[in-house]
Amino acid sequence: MHLVIIGNGITGVTCALTVRRLQPAARITLVSGESIHHYSRTALMYVYMGHLRYQDTKPYGDWFWDENRLGLVHATATALNTSEKLLTLDNGTTLAYDQLLLATGSESKRYGWPGQDLAGVQGLYSLPDLEAMARDTHGIGRGVVVGGGLIGVELAEMLHTRGIEPVVLVRDARYWGAVLPPEEANLVDRQFHENHVPVRYGTELREILGDGRGRVRAVVTTAGEEIECQWVGLATGVTPNLGLAKTSEVETDKGILVDAFLRTSVPGVFAAGDCAQHRQPGAGEVPIEQLWYTGRMQGETVAHTICGQATAYRRGIWFNSAKFFNLEYQTYGQAPSEPTPGLSSFYWEHASARAALRVYFQAEAPHAVMGFNALGLRLRHAVCEQWIREQASVGTVLAHLGAANFDPEFARQHEKAIVADFNRQFPQLAVTLKQRKGLRALLREAQEGFSSPR
Ligand SMILES: Cc1cc2nc3c(=O)[nH]c(=O)nc-3n(C[C@H](O)[C@H](O)[C@H](O)COP(=O)(O)OP(=O)(O)OC[C@H]3O[C@@H](n4cnc5c(N)ncnc54)[C@H](O)[C@@H]3O)c2cc1C
Repeated sequence: MHLVIIGNGITGVTCALTVRRLQPAARITLVSGESIHHYSRTALMYVYMGHLRYQDTKPYGDWFWDENRLGLVHATATALNTSEKLLTLDNGTTLAYDQLLLATGSESKRYGWPGQDLAGVQGLYSLPDLEAMARDTHGIGRGVVVGGGLIGVELAEMLHTRGIEPVVLVRDARYWGAVLPPEEANLVDRQFHENHVPVRYGTELREILGDGRGRVRAVVTTAGEEIECQWVGLATGVTPNLGLAKTSEVETDKGILVDAFLRTSVPGVFAAGDCAQHRQPGAGEVPIEQLWYTGRMQGETVAHTICGQATAYRRGIWFNSAKFFNLEYQTYGQAPSEPTPGLSSFYWEHASARAALRVYFQAEAPHAVMGFNALGLRLRHAVCEQWIREQASVGTVLAHLGAANFDPEFARQHEKAIVADFNRQFPQLAVTLKQRKGLRALLREAQEGFSSPR
């Protein structure tokens, strides 16, 4: 069996390593137009900020691929002929496959703004983007970042660490309004404030102005403001990279359409990770998942199917994490940004505005816990998942909060205050001393038994 994988991101590489384990004799070839070796895309910002060198972002040494008999081809696949099972590469060669995985990732979205093709206007997705950003922001005074999501805040931090003033345009009335409730968004806003990053909420990009020589000079916002700048970062989302799939009869919509086994419409061709669109996502799941950890899960799942062990993809309980300047963020399960019928939430915030916890739970008995948001404190993935899966009551969770907390010092310091706050806000559900009794044993179990995903 010759498995060809297009894309050496987390999805493609996880699939390759899993197939190597399941079928030691398989021939496996990874094709990537971006880089010969796999690197960690989520670490791009740290290279710009000087915290890591490019070689530090490679999880495996360059010897690893030969050692594991994984063929590497540094080229872009420009055409796919599924009836002949043949790929055309931009280096003038062709590549035949028995089974094919499309793990082509995403590309930055552009909305047709006037001036979006000027020099100094870009998204941040790939190594060439990083190089362009390093080149075009060298020695400049101000950059405008368009978009109030995770990449927007990363771009702002990146510019800030190089002494460049970022101005951030956020469409919503608050930061990441579609995901964060107002209280959590306020904490992120404080990070912007403390780092002297001006943010224009409720404001979109209308137009990018050039300097007459093809370079960006300013942006005009929907509020009519003209902001002078020498660079514009577009962080308004990504879209599946369909370039190769579109040259073939593989069925696409917004992404490459796949069934529960990550099979495309063409036998022997699979798609996974950012580029895949699930025809029938599970309840509460989205059809296109553009996350590092879901890419890894899909890569592992599809490898089993490729090796003849048909396995349906199940994402399980939602999880995500990020960092907003100095504020770490984790979310688990159902954590809507707006009040939702049938769901209550308890919110605690430390007086420093550097730590907060929100616990979502059923409004009606048995008040099962449905989700968490944590800012500035680290929760244990396995514990939170278990509580959600087993529908633990909010009382049980609050009584045993220490079991979920990574930072024992923090737990000792703040747990009492969190429980007291909960008892004040929800006297009818007040956590009793008796409920808290088993805490020590649980803490011990957590420290011994659970391991972190990060
Ligand atoms: C700056 C940044 C920060 C991020 N931070 C986080 C985070 O904190 N947490 C999180 O969960 N997610 C994060 N993400 C998203 C996460 O990185 C992606 O979801 C994940 O990398 C997708 O993996 P993938 O393997 O599916 O695709 P990719 O990593 O995009 O890999 C696809 C590869 O295929 C190559 N390719 C495409 N077409 C062809 C072709 N025709 N021929 C050859 N090669 C081709 C591409 O060049 C690319 O190298 C971040 C993304 C970015 C850009």
